[in-house]
Amino acid sequence: MARLRVAVNGFGTIGKRVADAVARQSDLELVGVAKTRPGYEARRAVARGYPLYVAGSGSPEKFAAAGLPVAGRLADLLGKVDVVVDATPEDVGRENRALYEAANVRAVYQGGEEADVAEASFNALGNYDAGRGKRSLRVVSCNTTGIARAAAVLLRWGVERWDVTLVRRAADPAETKRGPINGIVPTLEMPSHHGPDVRTIFPDLPIATTAVVVPTTLMHVHVNHVRLARPPATAADVVATLRSTPRFVVFAPGEGVEGTPQVMEVARDRAGEGGRRSADMMENVLWERGIRLDGRDLYFFQAIHQESIVVPENVDAIRAMFDLAPSKDASIAATDRSLGIAHG
Ligand code: NAD
Repeated sequence: MARLRVAVNGFGTIGKRVADAVARQSDLELVGVAKTRPGYEARRAVARGYPLYVAGSGSPEKFAAAGLPVAGRLADLLGKVDVVVDATPEDVGRENRALYEAANVRAVYQGGEEADVAEASFNALGNYDAGRGKRSLRVVSCNTTGIARAAAVLLRWGVERWDVTLVRRAADPAETKRGPINGIVPTLEMPSHHGPDVRTIFPDLPIATTAVVVPTTLMHVHVNHVRLARPPATAADVVATLRSTPRFVVFAPGEGVEGTPQVMEVARDRAGEGGRRSADMMENVLWERGIRLDGRDLYFFQAIHQESIVVPENVDAIRAMFDLAPSKDASIAATDRSLGIAHG
C-alpha cells in the first residue's frame, strides 16, 4: 500500500523529533523537512537523509554557502505531500495556514497556536475519534497533553473537581535567552491557560489550573488534587490502571527515581531501545509513592518531558485524519511500538 506522504515545516525542538518519528512509521513517508536557517539542525536533517527545503524568509543562497544541498522551497515540498506537520514557533503556524490551504494539503499544528487554527484540538488517548477525517488538527501543548492523558484515565471514576498546579520549566535545554535562571515566578493569570486548553479536548472537565515557572530545563511537574465521584477501592487500583494504560510510566518505590533529574537519566539510559530517541521521555511519568487516595480525594504528581511528549500524538493525529488505523488503540499501539514507548 502506498504510504501517506508527510512534510514537516519547522525543524526545531518539536519538528526534528516529529520528523524522526514519522520516518519510523511503516504507513508514513517523510518526504522532506523545511527550515528557514542553515544551522546545526539543518545540517542534521541532511545527515539523516531528509530532503531539505527552504521555508519562509530563508535564503537558498545561505544554505548553499553553508554547504547544505536544498531540494527547493516550501511550496515545492507542499506540492509533493498529503499532509504537513507545522512545528514552527508560536503564531507562525497560523500565518502558514493559507499556504497549506492553497496547496490543498492537510495540516497538523502545535499547541503554541490558538485552538481555532484547526478544525479540532487533538490528544490520542483523549479524543482520537474527533480527529477522524479532519483536514486540520492541533496537537495540544505539552502540559495540556499530559493533563488530557491523565483525564482519559481518571474520567472512568468520574471527576467532580480537579485542581492542578503546574510547576513549569523555564526553558528548553537549548534555549539560552529564556528564564528565570534564579527565582520562582507565579503565573498571575488564573486559571492559567492550561485549564481552558484541556477543555478543547474534554469540554466539561471541571478543572482549575494554576502555574509557577521555575529555573529548570528538565520537565514540568504537575501537582494534582482530584475529587472523584466513584473512586476505586485503593490507591493500588489507580496505580494498576495507570500501569496498564499506554504512555504512562509509574516508578516504584526503591527505584531511586526521586525527581526529574533521575527521570531524564532513565531516558538517557534507554536511548536507542526499540527506537527511542536520546534523552526523550514521551510517557507521563508518575511515582507510585506519590499517588494517594483519601476517600474520594486522589493526590498525585506527574512529570512531563516538554520536548517529546507531543511527538507520538502528532503521528496519531495524522493517522486519525486519514483514517489509517482501524481504532485509536491500534494507532497508539503502532506508534508506541515504532518509538519504543513503554507502559508500566
Ligand atoms: P523551536 O523554536 O525549537 O523550533 C521552531 C523551528 O521553526 C526553528 O527551527 C525555527 O528556525 C523554525 N522557523 C521559524 N520560522 C519559521 C518559518 N516561517 N517557517 C518554517 N520554520 C520556521 O520551537 P518548538 O519548541 O519546536 O515549538 C514549535 C511549536 O511546538 C510551538 O507551537 C510550540 O508552542 C509547540 N510546543 C513546544 C514545546 C516545547 O516545550 N518546546 C512543547 C509542546 C509544543
